[in-house]
Amino acid sequence: MVQGLDKSERARRRQAAASLVAAPPAVDLTAVALTWVDTSGITRTKAVPFKRLEEAAEWGVGMSPVFDAFLVDDSIVSGRYAGGPIGDLRLHPDLERLVPLAAMPGWAWAPAERFTQEGTEHSLDARWLLSREVARLAARDLQVLTAFEVEWAVSKGDGEDFVPACTGPAYGMTRIAELSDYLRDVMRALEGSRVSVVQIHPEYAAGQYELSVAHEDPVGAADTLVLVRETIRAVSFRYGLSASFSPKVLADSVGNGTHVHLSLWHRDSPEKRSNLMAGGDGPCGMTGQGEAFTAGILEHLPALLAVGAPSVASYMRLIPSHWAGAFACWGLENREAALRFVQGPLGRRDQAANLEVKCFDGAANPYLALAALLAAGHAGLEAGTVLPDPVNDVDPAMLDADEREARGIRALPASLEESVAAFEADAVLREAFGEAVIDTVAVVRRGEIALFAGATPERIAAAVRRRH
Ligand code: GLU
Ligand code: MG
Repeated sequence: MVQGLDKSERARRRQAAASLVAAPPAVDLTAVALTWVDTSGITRTKAVPFKRLEEAAEWGVGMSPVFDAFLVDDSIVSGRYAGGPIGDLRLHPDLERLVPLAAMPGWAWAPAERFTQEGTEHSLDARWLLSREVARLAARDLQVLTAFEVEWAVSKGDGEDFVPACTGPAYGMTRIAELSDYLRDVMRALEGSRVSVVQIHPEYAAGQYELSVAHEDPVGAADTLVLVRETIRAVSFRYGLSASFSPKVLADSVGNGTHVHLSLWHRDSPEKRSNLMAGGDGPCGMTGQGEAFTAGILEHLPALLAVGAPSVASYMRLIPSHWAGAFACWGLENREAALRFVQGPLGRRDQAANLEVKCFDGAANPYLALAALLAAGHAGLEAGTVLPDPVNDVDPAMLDADEREARGIRALPASLEESVAAFEADAVLREAFGEAVIDTVAVVRRGEIALFAGATPERIAAAVRRRH
């Protein structure tokens, strides 16, 4: 983890950029897009000519801090810590992650981290907050491996209209046949941008597909999510289509989740690590640490939703019996539990066992969402929290309220108001993130609540469909 930009770190970065620019080009690059994700989950960017990369690597690219207070519709709220026209930050590309954007010939991409002009980390930078949580676990010889599953809906409609670009049945081979060139080009472009695709399939909702990628360290996984989404978006435009990652594309349909798969590993030695989600004598084969990490996440779920399901539209998606995980419980392979425990096939569990957070969606800033999950898991580890009984046998919505209560199954917040209140009251997240982040997230969420006050579900779905 980088600790500020001193003279030698700046020189190291300039040198690394010089090597990239001087390397014989595998593809011809004209421009590099530097991206960061704002509080409302929108990927924002500034771009520089590829030949000026050295300058950008050493000194960064100027950028207003106001984006921390942007809402989904580009209006701006003013908080105590963000939202004014004053000040400047420097966007610094992470050159180790720079790749050609195969879907946009001539363009490269690098995720950026935001620093002050003095070279210290910007305290609201979500990528930095995530690397801090990663470092806290590393100090205990622990590592999280993680991947986001991307669901998106493809439209051939103009403007705000959503007209599904395929009409075949859910999971139907017809949907691959209908858009086979498009889906192949998505896969080729991702391969060209060095993303390791694991699976692609037609999903349940109209025009919906899903793509999963290999797990990585948390910062890498959040970077990959940004790259995957922007690649899918770019290929869609080339086909005259548009891709929506919004939690609720149509008000009366199943939504887009962006589920998070996490496993906790112990670093036994520099060469060897072992998966703490398997091989133990806890529930579903978890080790004590695997269980405590999972239990920490379960305990903090209502507050975590303010970053994992951060849009007013998120709560239109997060409803029972839509496979979105609307109940705060965990269960083995239970797709209606907010936390689905995935054991994997017998014989492979030491590699495959992981926890799937189903209640998170594509409006989340992936860096902030992972930082919050890691902080909650870390708190579980510190407290040695244990899990309640799993809900393995039933969709919690099929139980009556008394049965749910007897089994300790809580409904998750049903609105953004509720999850923001839980977020502000959460001592673990406050300690991990600090007052400026808590206040800014809350101000942005309340700004979006006000933005959509009184709007119909159809209006909300239409307003955010093209934003995420
Ligand atoms: N589309 C569902 C969601 O909103 C998820 C379906 C699945 O389990 O993959 O999360
Ligand atoms: Mg899915």
